[in-house]
Amino acid sequence: MGNIILTGDRPTGKLHIGHYVGSLKARVAMQNQGDYDNFFLMIADAQALTDNADNPDKIRESVKEVMLDYLAVGLDPKKVTFFIQSMIPALPELTMYYMNLVSYNRVLRNPTVKTEISTKNFGKGVPIGFINYPVSQAADITAFKANLIPVGEDQEPMLEQTREIVRSFNRIYKTDTLVECKAVLPENEACFRLPGTDGNEKMSKSIGNCIYLSDDEKTIKKKINNIVSFPREINEPGILENNVIFTYLDAFVTDDSFKEFYPEFQNLDELKDAYKKGGIGDGRVKKFLFDVINKELTPIRERREEFAKTADVMKILKEGTIAANKAAESTLLEVKKAMKIDYFD
Ligand code: ATP
Ligand code: MG
Repeated sequence: MGNIILTGDRPTGKLHIGHYVGSLKARVAMQNQGDYDNFFLMIADAQALTDNADNPDKIRESVKEVMLDYLAVGLDPKKVTFFIQSMIPALPELTMYYMNLVSYNRVLRNPTVKTEISTKNFGKGVPIGFINYPVSQAADITAFKANLIPVGEDQEPMLEQTREIVRSFNRIYKTDTLVECKAVLPENEACFRLPGTDGNEKMSKSIGNCIYLSDDEKTIKKKINNIVSFPREINEPGILENNVIFTYLDAFVTDDSFKEFYPEFQNLDELKDAYKKGGIGDGRVKKFLFDVINKELTPIRERREEFAKTADVMKILKEGTIAANKAAESTLLEVKKAMKIDYFD
């Protein structure tokens, strides 16, 4: 069997440059390479509700925004099946069966879930649905028999948990129905987990420390100027460790960026060396960063504005959801057969 790609995003807001370098770019490359039998892209609204149960309007609105972001970066409905998670009834059903294969302690041990619990303000306590979302993610992946998952590095623990479920299921029910998956991570390590503009280790919709793909020039400039840098006199040596400006440069610049916007240097290593010695102010580096990011985002922003006027995003999602439903339904039947709960067949 050929490759089946699946990935998705939570509709908790518009997509940002962390999504772009962490996953969207790889998706577009994989789509254009065409080395797959099927490419599913899920808008994970049910998962978004696990920590936004009281905010249904935000989730509903964001479904459309995320779909526009997809089109804007070049993902193509002719090549990719876009669908909405909550419209696939096989997914919660599979989740229910998989929950029996995962211990209570195991779900609590997931490092990404732990970090997210500490950064989200859960007030009255953590919903069971939230702790369980990696199990439902295993359902999302296995329902489509996906083997390749282009994601940011924070998703690796989810995929590990999925593989454990696949192995347990196939062993217990003596079957090869479920398929093991692997992450497709960005080649450039700076893109694994892009930090937020506030210095937080992850840019995240829920924290709001993002540069969005749809931000206009003025907004991008303001956000970059507001990135906190280490106070120093211009001639003092600059510090590169935990320097968000340089992490963004690591993620975005090419040697061509220097030719166009900073010809005093040929590449990022040269700029870093000079910065470490002193004499280069953060204002100049921020200006360069703005030029580079703005150049990359301008065509995306323009396409997005065009699609916002012309594309029927709900129609695209409806057609994709019908196709996705068939695929998931067929896996569910196999799963139930393996579990001997196919009573009337
Ligand atoms: P939320 O705060 O609601 O969880 P998010 O910003 O983390 O939103 P998700 O929808 O959870 O975004 O993530 C979608 C995909 O984008 C995942 O593959 C995730 O790994 C990737 N991703 C999200 N944020 C980053 C980031 N800062 N750097 C690299 N990849 C990221
Ligand atoms: Mg997230």
